[in-house]
Amino acid sequence: MSFELFGLPVSRGVAIGRAVLIASSRVDVAHYFIDESRVETEIARLRDARDAVANELEGLKRDMPAEAPAELAALLDVHLMLLHDDTLSGPTKQWIIERHYNAEWALSAQLEVLARQFDEMEDEYLRERKADIEQVVERLLRAMARGSAALAPASAGVGPRDFAGEDPLVLVASDIAPADMLQFKGSVFTGFITDVGGRTSHTAIVARSMDIPAVVGTREASRLIRQDDWIVIDGDCGVVIVDPSPIVLEEYRFRQRQSELGRERLARLRHTPAITVDGERVDLLANIELPGDATAAVEAGAVGVGLFRSEFLFMNRDGELPDEDEQFEAYRDAVVAMKGLPVTIRTVDIGADKPLERLTVNELRHEHALNPALGLRAIRWSLSEPAMFRQQLRAILRASAYGKVKLLIPMVAHLSEVRATLEALARAKQQLSDAGRACADIEVGAMVEVPAAAIMLPAFLRYFDFVSVGTNDLIQYTLAIDRADEAVAHLYDPWHPAVLQLLARAIAQTRDAGKEVTVCGEMAGDTAFTEVLLGMGLRGFSMHPAQIAAVKQQVLRTDTRRWASRLESVLSADDPEAQVRRLMREAQAPSVARAAARAARVEGAVAEVAADAANARLQ
Ligand code: PEP
Ligand code: MG
Repeated sequence: MSFELFGLPVSRGVAIGRAVLIASSRVDVAHYFIDESRVETEIARLRDARDAVANELEGLKRDMPAEAPAELAALLDVHLMLLHDDTLSGPTKQWIIERHYNAEWALSAQLEVLARQFDEMEDEYLRERKADIEQVVERLLRAMARGSAALAPASAGVGPRDFAGEDPLVLVASDIAPADMLQFKGSVFTGFITDVGGRTSHTAIVARSMDIPAVVGTREASRLIRQDDWIVIDGDCGVVIVDPSPIVLEEYRFRQRQSELGRERLARLRHTPAITVDGERVDLLANIELPGDATAAVEAGAVGVGLFRSEFLFMNRDGELPDEDEQFEAYRDAVVAMKGLPVTIRTVDIGADKPLERLTVNELRHEHALNPALGLRAIRWSLSEPAMFRQQLRAILRASAYGKVKLLIPMVAHLSEVRATLEALARAKQQLSDAGRACADIEVGAMVEVPAAAIMLPAFLRYFDFVSVGTNDLIQYTLAIDRADEAVAHLYDPWHPAVLQLLARAIAQTRDAGKEVTVCGEMAGDTAFTEVLLGMGLRGFSMHPAQIAAVKQQVLRTDTRRWASRLESVLSADDPEAQVRRLMREAQAPSVARAAARAARVEGAVAEVAADAANARLQ
């Protein structure tokens, strides 16, 4: 039966595909397609894992001390029974044979189906058996990881386009951590749905960077959608349609084609310089997460990288951090790929909704932080790990020998942090010079993300060469709204007068100090704000590469003088969004009136021609 779910639209476009439900704890299970020749091998891996787990369980039973409670032995029997039950292994094999899922993916898909069935059981005792099946599957997954011969997805797996006749797939999960999202970059999924999350949660940001339709904060999607259901994701409106009727499906397929055509049209602007109607040049820069994203940035026509979120290099590493050389290589690769264009590398912004695996004492503390968004995050975390921080600074400095590198410091709020950061940088430089390594004198910028920094910006400007406003956090901290919490997502408002006033002031003060200012939060890539930001004097916008063309189109149509003269009325309005809409209507009014007059003239001329023709016939 068809039904709809509503959430927050976080990444535009329409995706149509079959649901792949994944439990949050298992999102890091590899998901890739295997080709036909590999089907038997994957089934054999499944069988080997089953035999290994059976041995493990039998061993545990055998070695159980005599005084152990009898329930324990009974539990192991239940696990053995579940392990050999055909309801687990039979359909799992089918996922491999029919869908060509790798064994781990097939197993987690079947677990989701069974978990749902257990949830729906009336009998409480039976319902609780769900935990047992989960434990058995965990054991199987671990056995597969140990036993291996698993394929590396990138090398031997095949993507959906290579797999003729395969239905596209959309991912449904209660939550997806940014680190897991990263693994899905370039993966088989054509859309994402989660129960939780906000518009600027990092999961949403990564979905946008992948340019894949996504809806978050649906609250119940992972409970109501079943494995393999047909799904439409409307990433423009935040609607998810489950099991759509043929008419609805047709309508969405049409919209999908339309938006593809729209994208193709916009892509033609790639090499057009971003210059406003009144001749102001605007820098459209890219936000990237990994060095590999730099290629997409160049292809999209970015004039540099305005934000390299370096913390993504620190994720999915099983507890090991990248050392100086590995970091250096990643930064250098990004710099080289940008072919002489500037690359702004932000020092790690670990914490809040981007936690690391538990590694250090500080991370353990972080784990218990009551409110991680207000806790040990970004520059606070870096300064509390001085050796790690200097290592990153050295890696960035070394990369500066390969192109134009700029250093960006996240979430500064105190002048003491600024001084400590600059001292760490000076020491890192000294260490490099002592080791005989060359490095350039790089520009250092501050991210304005905390109201304190925006309010006392002139003091910060004495120390920094440039400023980048992180509106995602500036909104979060100004309005006291956790950006990852869908329960308060309706209050997360970039149009709030306090946000706009802080932003306008930060832009004006940085420009007055003769320094460069950019915005690198999500507002920069949202065309609803382009004119107002240009009116505030902003000339540097950093966004996901996929958003550059649309923002450029808006820049090409804007007269910054006109919006500068209207700015005061926007900033002082109770409802700035409504005020901007009113101003736009007024701006369009003359052209609408001209068009109407032209239409009237044409109509008059047509009427004259018709009258002449009628007269001619009468004569
Ligand atoms: C921001 O806060 O606007 C920003 C760009 O940083 P991040 O989204 O990575 O926190
Ligand atoms: Mg931020």
